[in-house]
Amino acid sequence: MTQFDVDLFVIGGGSGGVRAARIAANYGAKVMIAEEYRIGGTCVIRGCVPKKLMVYASRFADEFHDAAGFGWTVGETSFDWATLIRNKDEEIDRLEGIYRANLERAGVETINSRAVIEDAHTIHILKTGARIRARYILVAVGAHPTLEPAIPGGELGITSNEVFHLETQPRRIMVVGGGYIAVEFAGVFAGLGSDVTLVHRGDKLLRGFDEDVRDALGEAYAQRGINLALKTTVTRLDKAADGIAATLSDGSVVTVDQVLVATGRRPNTKGLGLEKVGITVDEVGAIPVDTYSQTLIPSIYAVGDVTNRVNLTPIAIREGHAFADTVFGRKPTIVDHDLIPTAVFSTPEIGVIGCGEAAARQVYGDIDVYKTAFRPMKATRSGGSERVLMKLVVDKATDKVVGVHIMGHDAGELIQLAGIAVTMGATKADFDRTVAVHPTAAEELVTMRTPVVVKKPVAVG
Ligand SMILES: Cc1cc2nc3c(=O)[nH]c(=O)nc-3n(C[C@H](O)[C@H](O)[C@H](O)COP(=O)(O)OP(=O)(O)OC[C@H]3O[C@@H](n4cnc5c(N)ncnc54)[C@H](O)[C@@H]3O)c2cc1C
Repeated sequence: MTQFDVDLFVIGGGSGGVRAARIAANYGAKVMIAEEYRIGGTCVIRGCVPKKLMVYASRFADEFHDAAGFGWTVGETSFDWATLIRNKDEEIDRLEGIYRANLERAGVETINSRAVIEDAHTIHILKTGARIRARYILVAVGAHPTLEPAIPGGELGITSNEVFHLETQPRRIMVVGGGYIAVEFAGVFAGLGSDVTLVHRGDKLLRGFDEDVRDALGEAYAQRGINLALKTTVTRLDKAADGIAATLSDGSVVTVDQVLVATGRRPNTKGLGLEKVGITVDEVGAIPVDTYSQTLIPSIYAVGDVTNRVNLTPIAIREGHAFADTVFGRKPTIVDHDLIPTAVFSTPEIGVIGCGEAAARQVYGDIDVYKTAFRPMKATRSGGSERVLMKLVVDKATDKVVGVHIMGHDAGELIQLAGIAVTMGATKADFDRTVAVHPTAAEELVTMRTPVVVKKPVAVG
C-alpha cells in the first residue's frame, strides 16, 4: 500500500492556499503548505491590502481641501512617502504574523521554500531537497505581473510588485494599462500630488465595465488632472538625464521618474513540474480545472489566480474553501462564478455587481435601465467637481435587477450591500419598496422611478 507523509500538500501560501489548508486541517487532515516568499500571498503582501492603505493615504488631500467649505482652516499640509511605506510595511508584517499563527493554530505545517511537483503524489522542497508524499496536492501559486508587451528599454519600468517599495515618491509617473490595477495606482499617485500620465491602448479605461461607468471615470480622471493618453502605447523607454524618457505611439516623448507597467498578470506555472504529470497549461499559462477545481490528474487540484477564472481574493478563498469541503469534508461544493460584487478603488471609487447595459441586452434582450448622475451633497459646499453615478439594469421579463453600477464615495461599501439584494434575486419592485435613507447618495438606488430610453436589442442571425 502506498504510504503518504501528508493528506494534503498545498503549494502557495496566498488567499486560496491558506484557506484550503486551514479548512482541510479542521476536517482532521494532515496538511503541509509551502510558501516561497511571504505567507499571505499577493493580496496581503503586495496587492489588495497595501494598495488600499495607499488609496486611503491618497484621499486626504481632497478632505483637507473640502474642509474649507465647512468652516475649517487647515494649516499647511505635507506628505511624507517614507512614513506611509514604513507604516504600510508594519501593517503587512502584522497581518503576515496573523496568517502564520492561524495556520499553526489549525495544525498546518508551514515550509518556507519553493516547492515543485515531481509526480502525481510527490512534492520536491527545493530549499532542503526533501520529497514529501501527499495524498492530494493543491496548486495555489497565484500569478505575477508582467512587463508586457516587450518594448526596447522595457526593463526600466516597474510593476505593482516594486511600486510598494519605492524609496521616494515619483514626482512624475507614467502608468501603463487600463485595467483596475493601473487605474487604482494612477488615482493613488494623483491624490498624492504626483504628475500622472495614464497610457492605455484602448479608447476607454476599464474594459468589460459598463460604458457609462467607463465614460464617467475617464471624465473624473481628466478633471483630477491625470493626463490620459488613450488609444496610445509606449513604444520605447530610454534613460534620460532627469528620469526615463517614454516614447509614445503618437511620436511624443514624456519624461517621468517612474514607469509603472500594469498591463497584465500571468499564472505562476513556469518550472512547477506540471509537465511531469501531464498537465498542460492554457495559452496564458493557467491550469485547466473542472467545477470542483480538479485537474486532469485526480490527486491534483488548483485554485485561485493560477486557474485564471476570476482573479480576485474572495474568489480564491472560496475556491480553496470549496476544495477542502469537497475533498476532506465530504461536501461536494462548487463555487458560483456569476454575480460577483467587485470594487475598483479609483478615486472616485467604483462598485459593480452583475451585467453592464450592453451585456444585459445581449443576455436578457428586453431591459430597463435606470440611471442618475449628480453632484454629491458634500461637494455643494466644498466646491469639489466630483459626480456620483448610479445605474440599475433590470430584466424586463422578470423585473429582476441584473446589474448595479455605482461610481462615487464608498461605492465598494455600497455594492457589498446592494450585492446581497441582487444575489437574492431582488426585483426592481423590491428596490422600490425599500424605504430611502435620507439624506444619502445611496437613496437614489431606491428612488429612481423612470427608466431611460434604451435601444431595442438588434436581432442577430
Ligand atoms: C496590485 C494588486 C491589487 C489587487 N487588489 C485586489 C482587490 O482590491 N480586491 C481583490 O479581491 N483582489 C485584488 N487583487 C487580486 C488578488 O490579490 C488575487 O486575486 C489573490 O491574491 C489570488 O490569490 P491566490 O491564492 O490565487 O494567489 P496569491 O495570493 O498570489 O498566492 C500565491 C502564493 O504562492 C506563492 N508561490 C508561487 N509559486 C510557488 C512555489 N512553487 N512554491 C511555493 N510558493 C509559491 C507565491 O509567493 C504567493 O505567495 C489585487 C492584485 C494585485 C496585484
